[in-house]
Amino acid sequence: TEIKAWKEFDKAKLYMADLESGLHYLLRVELATHKTLEGAELKTFKDFVTVISKLFPGRQPVVKLLETLQEWLVSLPLDKIPYDAILDLVNNKMRISGIFLTNHIQWVGCQGSKPELRGYTCSLWKLFHTLTVQAAVQPKALINTGFEDNPQVVLQIMRRYIQHFFGCKACAQHFEEMAKESMESVKTLDKAVLWLWEKHNVVNDRLAGDPSEDPKFPKVQWPTPDLCPECHDEIKGLHSWNEAQVLQFLKHHYHHENILYKYAE
Ligand code: FAD
Repeated sequence: TEIKAWKEFDKAKLYMADLESGLHYLLRVELATHKTLEGAELKTFKDFVTVISKLFPGRQPVVKLLETLQEWLVSLPLDKIPYDAILDLVNNKMRISGIFLTNHIQWVGCQGSKPELRGYTCSLWKLFHTLTVQAAVQPKALINTGFEDNPQVVLQIMRRYIQHFFGCKACAQHFEEMAKESMESVKTLDKAVLWLWEKHNVVNDRLAGDPSEDPKFPKVQWPTPDLCPECHDEIKGLHSWNEAQVLQFLKHHYHHENILYKYAE
């Protein structure tokens, strides 16, 4: 594999290159392992595309592509869709019509010190954190989708996407266990942002010291004090999170205004 030069980045920022590379991988690599979509898989993919077409804080050509895909999926009267038809739509329109998604992988905030580390799974976390924040800061975006007024909307779509499509089956099983345990208790869009943050930290804790850990990016409880000092409290000598501050931090960190376009094609 090609060795890419290290790209300097700011860990306090989000990079569109990570989110778009992740979408490219999801649509052209992960989904490609399913030759036809039907039943619960098809429903999951349709709902995923509906939500992401409304909430993805992306550039016009990418948002247009997602909207086109969404309209095409809802207009099809078929109960089975060959993956190749989806791929044609994702590939064909291209730049001419102003509809375009990169077909290169360019990890920035998600680059690993070795090619097999980080990358897609990192971008998938970032994508879903971004979607939970977008849903919380602009809930009106989901009007007329059938998902308005559902505080768990992004979490449920993530749960089903992971269950049906995520290539890491052990990860999917772990995530499903956490979802079963407490996802139902999420009653507001803000709580959904916090739920995903908390569960991601549970995963970080479990994976600390695991061979999948990138030594350059050790698994930590996030956000670390250098990123968000106000997020950390100490009560009687014990660490505790200030959840109001964490929520504010997440809404800033995963907000579209915190996205940098450096390295994006
Ligand atoms: P990641 O954990 O991928 O995090 C990406 C970025 O998100 C970080 O760099 C940081 O900027 C930010 N971040 C970190 N923590 C938080 C937080 N709590 N809230 C918000 N943002 C945060 N791998 C396994 O080996 N076993 C598993 O069981 C497993 N389960 C997974 C389940 C899911 C749903 C997903 C998406 C991935 C799972 N993975 C699992 C992959 C694993 O979590 C990491 O994605 C992978 O090890 C790469 O780690 P990373 O260093 O890029 O950081």
